[in-house]
Formats: sequence, structure tokens, C-alpha cells
Amino acid sequence: PRRLLVGGNWKSNGNVTFVREMINEVLNRMKFDEKKVDVVVAPIVIHIPSAKAMLNTNIMVCAQNINMMGNGAYTGEVSAEQIKDFGLQWVIIGHSERRKLFSENNEIVAKKVERAQDQGLNSIVCIGETYEEREEGLTKDILKAQLDAIKQSIRDWSKIVIAYEPVWAIGTGKTASSDMAAEVHDYIRKWVAQNCSELISQQTRIIYGGSVTEKNAESLITQKDIDGFLVGGASLKQTFAEIVDIVN
Ligand code: 13P
Repeated sequence: PRRLLVGGNWKSNGNVTFVREMINEVLNRMKFDEKKVDVVVAPIVIHIPSAKAMLNTNIMVCAQNINMMGNGAYTGEVSAEQIKDFGLQWVIIGHSERRKLFSENNEIVAKKVERAQDQGLNSIVCIGETYEEREEGLTKDILKAQLDAIKQSIRDWSKIVIAYEPVWAIGTGKTASSDMAAEVHDYIRKWVAQNCSELISQQTRIIYGGSVTEKNAESLITQKDIDGFLVGGASLKQTFAEIVDIVN
């Protein structure tokens, strides 16, 4: 069986006080089976050092982004090497907010995946369709294009987690129904089987993101191809502990 993963993507939220309180009062009090579940949290980059210092060792810190270049004259950017050097093992790549608001296309996402692979970082690579794309029946075509784009960048699939995050479900309160998510996760796993191998497809974790809460987590996690969650809004409060508990 695959290990499960629950990620808290804090996005550009919070301040120093939030980080301290969330970690001391919620995260460090959570009980879960480390042998079964990976728990990661992704603060903004300047909150990473204090978060890493404060967190219990069973929770890992994740970067929200890396650049596609490496070190150099790239003002405002953080490289995979620097994330690795600081002692982090995880990064989120290709989040829909970055794709949409910061013009990251499939090609840029592929380069970032390559950088993360070069450094041996674990990448949570986000893919997903917009509302219009789903309405037009293009969901699988979009996912296929997003997956095809990163294929050449991946040498070590053990360091890849695919996060299916339908764009229309992010921050909207609209979750994909468990049947809808299950169908897409099955499609993604089949893509991995066809493009890599059956074995890799059985080992690769495919997690769901988009308005996950303590209320819908149970019906989603019981789907056979859903291996955990990437949680946004609900990761900023006590509800994150409840979601971890449900997955565990
Ligand atoms: P919400 O849980 O707030 O919908 O955000 C999901 C997400 O984008 C996680 O990366």
C-alpha cells in the first residue's frame, strides 16, 4: 500500500504570530502514524526557517515554489538548490494559482520539476482543469497535456506526488464529488501506467486538492486511488488536525 500524504498549503497567508500559534497549538499536538502518513506544511518563504525550527520532527516543511533556473541573477526567486541546502525535502510545483496568476505554463512547470529532480527534492506537482475546460469536456485532454509536459523531466518517480486540483474547486467551497475525483485519479494512474510502468503507477501517490474540509475528507480518502490531500483554507486552522486524523 502507498503511504498517504496530507499537505497544508498556507499560500500567501498569515504572519509570524500565526505561524507560532498554528504550530504550537495545532500541528505539534496532532497524533498520527508516521509510518502510514506524511504530513507537510508549506509556509511562505520567510516563515520557513522558524516553522522548521518549531515543528515536531514528524511534520515536514515544504516550499510553495522554486525557480526554473537555479542560482544566479534572478531577483526575487528561490532556487531548488537553496531549498535543498536549507534542509527541506519538499516543494509544490505548478500550483494553479502560479499557472494562472504568474503565467506558469506547462513548459515552465516542466523545467521546475527538472530542477527539483536535480536536487532530489520531493515534488508535489499540481495539475487540474478549469471550470470552462470541464464544461467543454476537455478535462482529460488538459490533464494529459499537463502530464505529458512533465514526463521528460522525471527520472525518479519516487520523488513525485501528483496533486489533482480542479481549479474550479480551489477556494470556492465546491469540492469534486468523490466519484468525480475517483474517476480523474483513476485516469491519472492509468496515464502513469502507460507512460512509465504498471509498478510505478501503483507506487505513485496521487492526492486531491480543492475545498477539502473535515466534512468531505472521509468520502474522498476512501476512494482507492486517492492517497491524501493538499489542503488550502482548512489548513490554516484546527480543521487541519481533523483532516489528518481522518486520513490516518
Ligand atoms: P482550498 O483548500 O482553499 O480550496 O485550496 C486548495 C489548494 O489550492 C491547495 O493547494
